[in-house]
Amino acid sequence: MLWLSTKQDLKLYTQQMRRQGKSIGLVPTMGYLHEGHERLIQKARAQNDFVVLSIFVNPTQFGPQEDFSKYPRDLQRDRQIAENNGVDIVFQPNVEEMYPHPLEVTVNPGRMESVLCGRSRPGHFRGVLTVVSKLFHLVQPDRAYFGQKDGQQLALIQKMVEDLDFPVHIVSVETVREADGLAKSSRNVYLTEEERRVAPEIYRALTWAKAHWQESLYLESPERLVDAVKKKLSTVPLFRIDYVELVTFPDLLPVSLFRPDETYMLAAAIYLGKARLIDNVLFGAHTLSHESSVY
Ligand code: AMP
Repeated sequence: MLWLSTKQDLKLYTQQMRRQGKSIGLVPTMGYLHEGHERLIQKARAQNDFVVLSIFVNPTQFGPQEDFSKYPRDLQRDRQIAENNGVDIVFQPNVEEMYPHPLEVTVNPGRMESVLCGRSRPGHFRGVLTVVSKLFHLVQPDRAYFGQKDGQQLALIQKMVEDLDFPVHIVSVETVREADGLAKSSRNVYLTEEERRVAPEIYRALTWAKAHWQESLYLESPERLVDAVKKKLSTVPLFRIDYVELVTFPDLLPVSLFRPDETYMLAAAIYLGKARLIDNVLFGAHTLSHESSVY
């Protein structure tokens, strides 16, 4: 396994692979790897000749009050996990390498950043799409792997690839969870014991909605479903709701009526102690194909 920290080296090696006719899978991450990341890597390993893992805590996607400087890091452990899962190249640049001068030109996420996390994290998705485009240009992968856990991010990256004609297939990977349902996340490390105990209530409330949305009460009024979930979450001690929102997937449009041919994403963001946790469920038509698909 190669560990590279410059764009020049990354371009050289990936160019070589492409010249040899090898397919390349890219897994972009911020490191502090867990089983969710591992699932992405394993899928990339199974579908490509060559796997590139990037580890970069991208400052441009963090707001001024957010956890950029405190974001958990453990490169030693990440190296071991990458090696164990058959990664060929780890690309771990520093901030100066990725952004040698202040950015002038960035990718505008448009309408789709005006919902869900986009609302509470202004500029976040512009930062994400811009750094992902840079990685796509440097690596020129055949496939790139993203988790369903960050549903809005996945939908936006897919939209960017379509709208800007990036020659890459986006592969989505189902959310990997702890035994009690909590979505694996690097940020779970922020939770105290007490917070960790209540954290699975997020997924519990979302799965309750997924099981009940077809009841006539909710079919008639999707808003009631969202309200019911908000009510459940608001009674959990220590939870502070950022949002609970129902949108179509992958277009992220508001829902006023449930339709039989539509896929829905119900998503929540909860402040819990020092962490802000997000999770979502998909339901409706085409759910299975969205949960684990090549777009
Ligand atoms: P991050 O390092 O948090 O930026 O995540 C890197 C990639 O891993 C993103 O595509 C995430 O959606 C994905 N990911 C993070 N957590 C999970 C999880 N629990 N299950 C599946 N994918 C995940």
